Amino acid sequence: MHPSDISILPQAPSPSDQRAGRRTFLKYAGGIAAGMAPLMAAQAQQAGASAKVDFPPDHADSEAPEKMPDPGLPPAERIGYAVVGLGRLTVGRLLPALAKSRYSRLSALVSGDPAKARKLAQQYGLAEQSIYNYDDFDRIAANPDVQVVYIVLPNSMHAEFTIRAARAGKHVLCEKPMANSVAECQQMIDACRQAQRKLMIAYRSQYEPLTRSLLKMARENRLGELKEFISANSQNMGDPAQWRLKKALAGGGPLPDVGIYCINAARFLSGEEPTEVLGSMRNNPADPRFREVEESVQFTLRFPSGFSATCSSGYNSHKSQFLRLQGTLGWGELDPAYAYEGNRLRYGLLQNGREVIHEPSIAASDQFMLEIDHMSQCVRQDRQPHTPGEEGLQDQRIIEAIYASAQGGRVIRLAPPGNTRGPEPRQEG
Ligand code: NAD
Repeated sequence: MHPSDISILPQAPSPSDQRAGRRTFLKYAGGIAAGMAPLMAAQAQQAGASAKVDFPPDHADSEAPEKMPDPGLPPAERIGYAVVGLGRLTVGRLLPALAKSRYSRLSALVSGDPAKARKLAQQYGLAEQSIYNYDDFDRIAANPDVQVVYIVLPNSMHAEFTIRAARAGKHVLCEKPMANSVAECQQMIDACRQAQRKLMIAYRSQYEPLTRSLLKMARENRLGELKEFISANSQNMGDPAQWRLKKALAGGGPLPDVGIYCINAARFLSGEEPTEVLGSMRNNPADPRFREVEESVQFTLRFPSGFSATCSSGYNSHKSQFLRLQGTLGWGELDPAYAYEGNRLRYGLLQNGREVIHEPSIAASDQFMLEIDHMSQCVRQDRQPHTPGEEGLQDQRIIEAIYASAQGGRVIRLAPPGNTRGPEPRQEG
């Protein structure tokens, strides 16, 4: 597959991208200490040369030219992020993604664990004064180095910290699920609107190149008329004491945690919104892990065109993550889908009455980095994020409808939400 099949392409460097020399960039790429920004900006300007170092081709003309990486903006011109919650996702994925991003940089950490925060601050080159805790978080209003607050806390805390961040004058990037109820989602949207700050929900799959490639195929009608979406997202949980198994903190079990990926993918791949929801659920209170949340959930979403999504999500089976989109002229599948890395795309298309199966190889790219840089570009260019609060609100409406259907044993009808998405990421730059 040609790289142009990927919708999110590296942004063309702006004139300001051109200022920093490569050495200057590398020196500061791991993050900057608070207060160093003006010095770095000056150094970046003094460098005067293009930030991207290129070389003349040294292979035959028939070979693809070797591309040097785009180093992005000089650190002082990047959007600064305060990351709230230093758990597995932050430490394992988000801090590394910020460090290799092109338009973003880490500028503060917010944690209830000062020792862990100090350790990470040291690792990523942050000064101690850039560390906040949950109580003094609101002081962040006075920190001009922070433009975006990235909320990576248990689900029940997303609304509180989004509202506090917006009141502190910061834009918000919030992990999925957006919150634990439709009412909380609406409060988050209202708070950001009132403060005139952007709100984006971190739906990384919508920025992931293979998933975007499948989306492009669907939009170009290469699968024909879309008919069915089939997907599972399950994993096997351990420690019964963890917050994901506590209803008050998690809002539910596998449905809001991992089943949400299936809901969201069915919606963005079809481009439609479900009007009917049918759910069933397995509760298993004999297992200490499932005293408060469901063990598994199955659901069907029906869409106005006749398209349907059949999905399953559980917390008691070996990790299984796949999706398959079926149309009148072919099918496309990701197996695994929704994974942090190693997703695999295949599609089968009718060609002269026969099915031909393709497995394109697309260069891996960190979806967390793409998602964070999208938010940064939206802030820099004053654009609406592709996955704003309305996108998270709509998934929460569907989650609540699935639970209501499973409990009442009946189909729940949903009114159309209107447009829930901002412009495609490809329209940036
Ligand atoms: P985690 O348990 O590893 O980390 C949670 C963090 O919140 C910890 O640092 C913990 O100390 C802190 N915390 C504060 N108050 C807490 C409380 N009352 N109980 C428990 N922890 C508390 O969780 P995680 O996997 O990093 O998930 C955090 C958020 O990110 C969740 O909303 C989750 O859904 C989301 N997430 C998204 C993805 C993705 O791929 N986009 C992946 C994992 C998690």
